[in-house]
Amino acid sequence: MSQAGAQAQSRIGSLPETEEARGAPEAPRSSPAEAGRVTPMMAQYLAIKEAHPGSLLFYRMGDFYELFFEDAEIASRALGIVLTKRGRHLGEEIPMCGVPVERADDYLQRLIAQGHRVAVCEQTEDPAEAKKRGSKSVVRRDVIRLVTPGTLMEERLLDPGEANLFVAVARRRLSDTAWTYGLGAIDISTGRFLVESAGQPDLPSALARLAPREIVLPDAIHDDPDLRALWTESSAAISVLPRDGLDPASAERRLKEHFGVATLDAFGAFDRAEIAAAGCALAYVARTQLAQRPVLEPPRRRASDRTLAIDPATRANLELTRTLQGQRDGSLLASIDLTVSPGGARLLAERLAGPLTDLALIRRRHDAVDHLRAESNLRDALRTALARTPDMARALSRLAVDRGGPRDLAALRDGLFAARAMADLLGQAGDLPEEIGAAAAALTELDTALAEALAAALADDLPLLKRDGGFIREGYDPDLDEARALQQDSRQVIAALQARYAAETGCRALRVKHNNLIGYFVEVPQAAGEEFVKPPLRDTFVHRQTMAGAMRFSTTELSGLEAKIASAADRSVKIELTHFESFVAQLVGHHEIITRACDALSVIDVTAALAELAADREWVRPVMEDGLAFSIKGGRHPVVEAALKARGTAFIANDCDLSGEEAGRILLVTGPNMGGKSTYLRQNALIAVLAQMGSFVPARIARIGVVDRLFSRVGAADDLARGRSTFMVEMVETAAILNQAGPRSLVILDEIGRGTATFDGLSIAWAAIEHLHERNRGRALFATHFHELTALAERLPRLSNATLRVAEWHGDVVFLHEVVPGAADRSYGLQVARLAGLPPAVVERARVILSELERTERERPARNLVEDLPLFAAAARPAPEAPAPDRLQEALADLDPDALTPREALEALYRLKAIGSE
Ligand code: ATP
Repeated sequence: MSQAGAQAQSRIGSLPETEEARGAPEAPRSSPAEAGRVTPMMAQYLAIKEAHPGSLLFYRMGDFYELFFEDAEIASRALGIVLTKRGRHLGEEIPMCGVPVERADDYLQRLIAQGHRVAVCEQTEDPAEAKKRGSKSVVRRDVIRLVTPGTLMEERLLDPGEANLFVAVARRRLSDTAWTYGLGAIDISTGRFLVESAGQPDLPSALARLAPREIVLPDAIHDDPDLRALWTESSAAISVLPRDGLDPASAERRLKEHFGVATLDAFGAFDRAEIAAAGCALAYVARTQLAQRPVLEPPRRRASDRTLAIDPATRANLELTRTLQGQRDGSLLASIDLTVSPGGARLLAERLAGPLTDLALIRRRHDAVDHLRAESNLRDALRTALARTPDMARALSRLAVDRGGPRDLAALRDGLFAARAMADLLGQAGDLPEEIGAAAAALTELDTALAEALAAALADDLPLLKRDGGFIREGYDPDLDEARALQQDSRQVIAALQARYAAETGCRALRVKHNNLIGYFVEVPQAAGEEFVKPPLRDTFVHRQTMAGAMRFSTTELSGLEAKIASAADRSVKIELTHFESFVAQLVGHHEIITRACDALSVIDVTAALAELAADREWVRPVMEDGLAFSIKGGRHPVVEAALKARGTAFIANDCDLSGEEAGRILLVTGPNMGGKSTYLRQNALIAVLAQMGSFVPARIARIGVVDRLFSRVGAADDLARGRSTFMVEMVETAAILNQAGPRSLVILDEIGRGTATFDGLSIAWAAIEHLHERNRGRALFATHFHELTALAERLPRLSNATLRVAEWHGDVVFLHEVVPGAADRSYGLQVARLAGLPPAVVERARVILSELERTERERPARNLVEDLPLFAAAARPAPEAPAPDRLQEALADLDPDALTPREALEALYRLKAIGSE
């Protein structure tokens, strides 16, 4: 398959079925057909490349990762690096490019950001070993890791405040036409493992909520025509497995094996699609991490009926975690995120993406926020401690797969101490609400022995890489101290040697230096060097190099010293690495307790941040109920309010009441352009989302019966890439709402029917309101410029009108942004157009046309139709109209050509012509 331009969708190799298969080569190490004609190294390269379809192969050669053939062409384009040629393969020159190993992370980051996958192939033996097998033998190499967008762990490749999930999808047939889908989502940078299921209609919502960076799915699901759009339009990288994923039996076996349990019951009641997806996710971890085994939490099942369903269009329209332009800035998340730790930021995003529907759980979160809001000293103390807590979850994950360094150990040391301090703080805080109490309990499970051991062992200044050594504190290990002293001594010996050589040769400029190429050497200025190549100095000093202005020599003494120094350095690094490995093993051994503590810290951070938000912005605790209440007093839009505040303008708070007994109310909002209709609609939807994610809300009083589905159609945008016009997008979204909304839903419809001819639009909006009222029966807000619709309030008992007030001042319109009962009689469109800078001539001409149109409308107002037309529910399907009698046809039918004289025929012809032209 050509990789160019198709990296976002890759077909990859099959998954290993069981744990034992981890890292097993999937293709012969050399392909016999090729081997005869190609060099042994090329044969090795080709075999490895063949085993990793869909990935660019980073092939380790010395200090570089080299890419060959098409990979080289793709990478040189993607990275802007030079494409060269190397040798020949089957008569053709081989395109090649390379990246230095030391800077590989940068290049990986850029390739991954562009949707590529990379197989990192390392030398798995010392080149000296290979030489022993014969001068022509090739160093053994193997792929040690597949780097894909959804399986990253490196700090530099990740955003600290964002989860980095991949989702594996599996499905099970329910009937001839229906499937249930299982989703297994893993963030290997933190070990989070979530499992859930969804019917086909809810699959897009579930995926939008998880917002994965990568989706892994078998080709049967990928190629299903009903789902195609879901994959082609996803911003996630799509990795397609060659066959139908893993069957549930091997998936279950894999899960049990990995978590060392005899049954999965302890983790929750999974259905077969969920097990298949979870197993597939786990197998994908094995496939990408190969020899390494990341630490993973046991899979946690998310019950979809406990989560507020928000479809992708609504999620995008409401700009919950990203704006419509895809930025975090300007989203609801950005405006409410007062967390102080990366784990807290990730949990806040997760909670905002998936608000709850379980009343008890919502109240439990509100209790916790309420507590910390009131206890401001405790809140401050917790937030100060949290801000100093490093990202333990990611540090531990890196360490577990041998991608961590000494600073990750330090992160755990500091994090564990901070967690402990926080447990003490909470222990002294008296009675705690359930949510915080549970978090405190998880923190007290930690014992600080490991943190103390780390504190005793780690030096103050830590190198980035463990192989550089120097991270174990002096005095911690006598053996290490001895090896280091030897190294230190050797340096002094070198200095003494330099002094002695200088004295003996009389060359004061003589220096002993070191480089990686020739090791230790004596360097003297060129002029002095002439003496060194002659006896007697020549007997001691062996000439190595002549440089511009200098000559270099080696001596037997220096070589001996070099070996000693190298072995001392080697020994000290080896000792340090042993300590490193032992700490990693201990930490990984405690990973469950540490992960629980990380989760607890994130919960505390989110709760304290929401409490801070409530205190800071005067948000209130919403009263949550089971019924269909929705009564907001003094509600505000959190993002618009913050933006206005920055400009020194106050936000006008507004009430909204959609409460009903058996069914919700519909509020029809009319008002001027720029009056604040969209803001009002969105703010009420956001208040529901905030309340159900466990936050307080921007209002004076709020009473909300739990919403089960949220729908919003706000604004319109062309989706030309999908071949949909503005109006088509609007109708697709409206259709989804009218087909799916139920009595417990909250529906926000902003100006439907706008992108078409006036009467078409008006009719659609009209019918949609009737449908919402009679069929869907949920709580709804409907904004419109079709003022005719306000008359519907007379006929629909649960519909009321509201409008946004304006004042006119010397012909200018002043927006008061105040929602009041009643209907607007005009949209002030022309005034807004004038404010926007439309040429005065155009505005004036429009005014003339408008008054003419309004005169016609007065003669036959469309609103009279309300009285004339039966309601949606009562409206019988109109009988097809009987066609109006056609006089021409009647006249033709009356003719009998055989009975006509020529003159009568001529007269009949004239008569027909006259009827036809009437
Ligand atoms: P249109 O009909 O043209 O789409 P609209 O009625 O939907 O307009 P919005 O887009 O909601 O109007 O609001 C326009 C601007 O008015 C906002 O960007 C905001 O600056 C301001 N605004 C809206 N509501 C309020 C409010 N309650 N208090 C203060 N300013 C507000």
